[in-house]
Amino acid sequence: MSAFDSFPLGSPAFVSHILDRAAHLRSDDEKLFALENHRDARAYVVYRDSLVVKQEAEGVRALLSIDEALKFGANPGTIFLGLRDGAAVFGMGISAAAVENLLTRNDVAVTELRGMAMQGAVPPNQLSAIAMAKSLVSWHQRHGFCATCGTRTAMSQGGWKRDCPNCKAEHFPRTDPVVIMLVTHGDKCLLGRQKQFPAGMWSCLAGFVEVAETIEDAVRREIFEESGIRCTDVSYYMTQPWPYPSSLMIGCSARALNEDIVVDRTELEDARWFSRPDALLMLKREHPDGLAGPHPFAIAHHLLGRWLQTASD
Ligand SMILES: [Zn+2]
Repeated sequence: MSAFDSFPLGSPAFVSHILDRAAHLRSDDEKLFALENHRDARAYVVYRDSLVVKQEAEGVRALLSIDEALKFGANPGTIFLGLRDGAAVFGMGISAAAVENLLTRNDVAVTELRGMAMQGAVPPNQLSAIAMAKSLVSWHQRHGFCATCGTRTAMSQGGWKRDCPNCKAEHFPRTDPVVIMLVTHGDKCLLGRQKQFPAGMWSCLAGFVEVAETIEDAVRREIFEESGIRCTDVSYYMTQPWPYPSSLMIGCSARALNEDIVVDRTELEDARWFSRPDALLMLKREHPDGLAGPHPFAIAHHLLGRWLQTASD
């Protein structure tokens, strides 16, 4: 039995799901209208990187009734996220002025999503639906005009498309692929620090996949650009939706061909090799030097944890 077998891994945030997307309903305006007006309909109200939640004795409630959402000042345009036990769940945006009014109330909070997810303030199985709401609300706010001819576009397909009435172009929400990878060399793994990380925190390297690039090439390119390490044997592990604003983190591992790190200081504050025992203490937040690994909320934690679980000691 390995010393790392007892390390619990779980799942990263935004992965488990409570909704049936019921995509076939997006083009059925009549049905969507009926679902939205049903008393069981619910909504997540998103403001920038935050969520409007109801404060109740048992804790925060993220799913609001449509009436509550509208009374709080949410914008009336709803985005159909899917069905939960037959009832519809929608995403709604809200203006800065309406949020300003809510801040005076004791029974409502406008809380940053990442913090809530890290603290477990909302049930983990709701985070994926909240991520959908956040990414889609943000996409509509940033894509009000046709990229082809500049005309104001209109929401359609329950919020999964915008149409241009002038040139007839159709616009769909985009997802940006990001590779995030754990590079290992024998019994060591490569971790980096970005300037904005909390003191002592290290994580896996990551970067956007470029146009016409394979995932494998993106892993090799990003690792070389940021750390000067050449690597091979790229393999895929798992993905994590990342709603900031709308990425898909593609978790991979790779094997380094050299150990001499040359850090690109414009991308990273530092990069370093860590031993397995150090990495385990960092993930458990028990490292004697105060070093820490990525939070269980993030896929990087799971890439590192899986490597530790497969230790050959
Ligand atoms: Zn147009």
